[in-house]
Amino acid sequence: MSQFSVYVRLLVILSLFNFLVAGIAAQTLANDKMVFLIKSGTDSSGNPMYRMATSQDQRANQIYDRFWRDEGVQKVIESHQQVDSNNNALNTPPGYHNIQKPSPVFVEIGNQTGTYNDWKGTFSVQDANGRVHTYDEPRVVLDLNDSMWQSRDQTLVEQTLVHEIGHGIMRKLYGKSDMPDTPWLGRPHYGDLVTDEQLALIEGWAEFVGAEFTGRHTIAEDPADSLTMNAYAYQDNGQPKTTEQLFKTEGWVATVMLHISKHPSINNGYQKLMESMRLSRAHDFNAVLRKYLSKYPEDGAAMQQILGKASINQFNKPMGGEIEVNPGDPSPPPVDVATVQNGSNDQNLLNLFNDYQSSLNTYAQLRLDMAHVDWYRGAWPQEIQRRMSFQQSLVKSLESRLIFALRQTSEIHNQQLIAQTLLDNMEKIRFEHNRTIQSYQKTNWWNRSVRSRLKIELELYKELYSMNKTVTDNVHTDTLYEVWNQRNARMQYRIRQAETASSQYGVPAKPNCNSALDADCRDAYNKLIGAIRVNSTGNEAKSALENYKALGQR
Ligand SMILES: [Zn+2]
Repeated sequence: MSQFSVYVRLLVILSLFNFLVAGIAAQTLANDKMVFLIKSGTDSSGNPMYRMATSQDQRANQIYDRFWRDEGVQKVIESHQQVDSNNNALNTPPGYHNIQKPSPVFVEIGNQTGTYNDWKGTFSVQDANGRVHTYDEPRVVLDLNDSMWQSRDQTLVEQTLVHEIGHGIMRKLYGKSDMPDTPWLGRPHYGDLVTDEQLALIEGWAEFVGAEFTGRHTIAEDPADSLTMNAYAYQDNGQPKTTEQLFKTEGWVATVMLHISKHPSINNGYQKLMESMRLSRAHDFNAVLRKYLSKYPEDGAAMQQILGKASINQFNKPMGGEIEVNPGDPSPPPVDVATVQNGSNDQNLLNLFNDYQSSLNTYAQLRLDMAHVDWYRGAWPQEIQRRMSFQQSLVKSLESRLIFALRQTSEIHNQQLIAQTLLDNMEKIRFEHNRTIQSYQKTNWWNRSVRSRLKIELELYKELYSMNKTVTDNVHTDTLYEVWNQRNARMQYRIRQAETASSQYGVPAKPNCNSALDADCRDAYNKLIGAIRVNSTGNEAKSALENYKALGQR
């Protein structure tokens, strides 16, 4: 039995609660990760209204159980929620503590509706107690009438759900109003078809997500490995498509994305693609690539290789001329080139590591939940406690298996990836820890509930830090040092970039400030500049800076 299904059975606090109150002999098909909906009418504003599906809705129940057992579905939901958490964190002003939880993935079980993601709509859900909640969220619609359900290929069905959730991820990265629009939306299309740049980006992204998380490297019912074989780069007569046609072909966009995420010398390609999309909110893939290279110049060489191959040597850089990284800056140090590439990558080690990471995340979330029992309106702190002890023993057993595996294997590339993630984790934990200490110090002594909550968080961060440290100590030593040095080199490069940017605006250097919260701290200023530079352009950015300056002179 997988970790996840055990977890699901224990979980579902909210629905269990509803279940007890309402006293119905059916369980809601809903928890804090996925909510199944069935259409029940329209709300007072004319938006569609849903009820939560229950175990008595037979088909829905079968599908629900089946999706929960699927690893690809679990992972894509994790990614969906991660984008939400990032957005929440970005919208939290300094000094405030964000307690908003990421929203679940909403799945409508439809009939004769078509299968798609409705990212434009607003909808309402009536819970088991009759209360109505309205959401402005992307919603996956699954058509039970779809021929896909008759397919014998199980992974095709899962890939379809993962694909639709992928659309929701893009909607969360872009925001509802900035999503590309095209007359092609709603028209039939397929992997190989030349449409327009907007649809190719929207669908290419979702096809890529479907392939990335299921490991099924093709689109719909196309031949196996169509993506990895670059099949979508050719016309029907066997000739390569033109540059213009390639950027209008969803299958080709998905191909390039998949190669970015799988390239041996690119780390976290999936995350970098998401960040490039979030920052650019681009409406075509070429613009996404340009943003990518301006933000991650260290991947330039790998990108040349990928584009050259995928375009059948027609181009190896995005269109539109030179990409400005930061004029006058030396090229960044090469990073993370795998020293050994013998083709046999030890996927088991990575899988084990991913399991360990996600079990640790769940554990951390439960610990935080304990500090915020008020989220559950007084319901069931013992249940959280019970889940926590369970989760803790799971983390411990995965930890010892992982340490054993790390000592056995000599797979440098995977050891590098793991070292990279662990060092990132420790840095983030340190940052959160220090931020929490600052909040703690600023909280009045009499505000006991807040202080005790912050104390629980501080303890958690210490514990997480030492857990990550324990695993890190078991990574191959030379590999760890190498990754550590690469990180430092890259950090230096970024600092130089930020300094060049700030000196352009004539900001006096004050390198010795201790706190990023000091009004005239240069770090804070650099951060602000960074934020403005990536989020807006030209005059808008300039006037934001002028305002900031004026603020300081008052
Ligand atoms: Zn789609």
